[in-house]
Amino acid sequence: MNVASNLRAVRARIHAAAVAAGRDPADVSLLAVGKAQPAIALQAAWDAGQRAFGENYLQEAVPHIDLLPAAEWHFIGRMQANKSRTLAERFAWVHTVDRVRIAQRLDAQRPTGAPPLNVCIQVNLDDDPAKGGVDADAASALADVVAGLPNLRLRGLMSVPRARTDAAGQRAAFAAVRQLYDALRDRGVPLDTLSIGMSADLEAAIAAGATLVRIGTDIFGPRR
Ligand SMILES: *Cc1c(COP(=O)(O)O)cnc(C)c1O
Repeated sequence: MNVASNLRAVRARIHAAAVAAGRDPADVSLLAVGKAQPAIALQAAWDAGQRAFGENYLQEAVPHIDLLPAAEWHFIGRMQANKSRTLAERFAWVHTVDRVRIAQRLDAQRPTGAPPLNVCIQVNLDDDPAKGGVDADAASALADVVAGLPNLRLRGLMSVPRARTDAAGQRAAFAAVRQLYDALRDRGVPLDTLSIGMSADLEAAIAAGATLVRIGTDIFGPRR
């Protein structure tokens, strides 16, 4: 595994996908997902210039954050209310907010003096019971709640559609998320982040308007 060359290849794919979609490659940022990876791999990504990292599990995340405290840390895992304090204290972003109670806890637990916690609402538009996230109506209501909480900064939507290998199916699933994103913006909700796309489908996500892709396997290799 060569993290530096994998990172170069992923950045080149992002660049090519953005250009193919008629978009500015600078409008798509890359989150390196350290799930089930050794700390040495994250260090190699940092050394290769990667600055934003995503984590799914707190017990893995905390040692990674301690190793690379200057990185920008994004939580992308399932939300558990009893873990919200650590999220509010240690992360810059949480992508997986899907209920009012969690949003209120993160707001209350954000340390005084810290910048607002950046929040994406996780949406689940294909009723996948294996995933968290809310439907379109609930996302719209939750966006209004989050936008009113002083220690949170509503940034956008995040989604993990059902895994598909056909590009047309991937595009259709991402297009539904994009449609909701546009609808919220059209009614004045100030969103600037569409967090969609992983190793297998980043091209389809960028074609649909992703502003942030979350990549694990294609940077770090298979999970241990
Ligand atoms: C694991 C994970 C990723 C990265 O997936 P890869 O297919 O390894 O790139 C992205 N987002 C979420 C929410 C994940 O759980």
